[in-house]
Amino acid sequence: MLRLNPGSTLVIATHNQGKRQEFATLLAPAGIICTDAAALNLAEPEETGVDFAANAQIKARSAARATGLAALADDSGLSVAALGGAPGLRSARFAQECGGYTEAMARVIGASRGDNRAWFTCALCLALPTGETATYLGFCHGIIAEQPRGTSGFGYDPIFVPSGQTASFAELSADQKHQISHRARAIRQLLAMLSALNQPAAPY
Ligand code: IMP
Repeated sequence: MLRLNPGSTLVIATHNQGKRQEFATLLAPAGIICTDAAALNLAEPEETGVDFAANAQIKARSAARATGLAALADDSGLSVAALGGAPGLRSARFAQECGGYTEAMARVIGASRGDNRAWFTCALCLALPTGETATYLGFCHGIIAEQPRGTSGFGYDPIFVPSGQTASFAELSADQKHQISHRARAIRQLLAMLSALNQPAAPY
């Protein structure tokens, strides 16, 4: 059974410090102690999955196997309607190929002038060393801004304005982003599952 009690150590299978920080903050209320792939010097497996969920499973399974600890991995990305859902799975690589996030964001803004709809997806996988996994999906819909705005967050945050907001992700505080982000939505499902499993048995 996928039980993870308060006080358990969880490996966050990421080398991205922005993501690691978001996970640690979101998991803190459950009393889970986080370490991460960079701190443990874990190799990064090749992301050969055909979708976000498959890539999250590859990363979580690999970290759980290597450490003998429960591991949590996500795979996430920005999908742009005008680009047919790209860069999606390839969001980090797209930024590299463009020469950095400033250039990648300029490309996305240029492409989105006629149709500015976009969404972030997060697939989250919890893997145990036994090989058991549970996978959750979170989405955050919004639009591409006309220009980058704000300095907090990471990646494509300055050009993404979530539905119901006028500020970009990078103009919101970390707390505000954590209420509505794709990652927060996936984590809430994981926390609900963990809390359901930790409920005491009914007294009858
Ligand atoms: P991953 O590490 O393979 O999941 O790559 C995810 C990439 O998608 C990141 O490097 C960013 O480019 C982008 N991304 C995912 N989530 C966010 C977010 O919350 N804000 C901004 N960019 C994000």
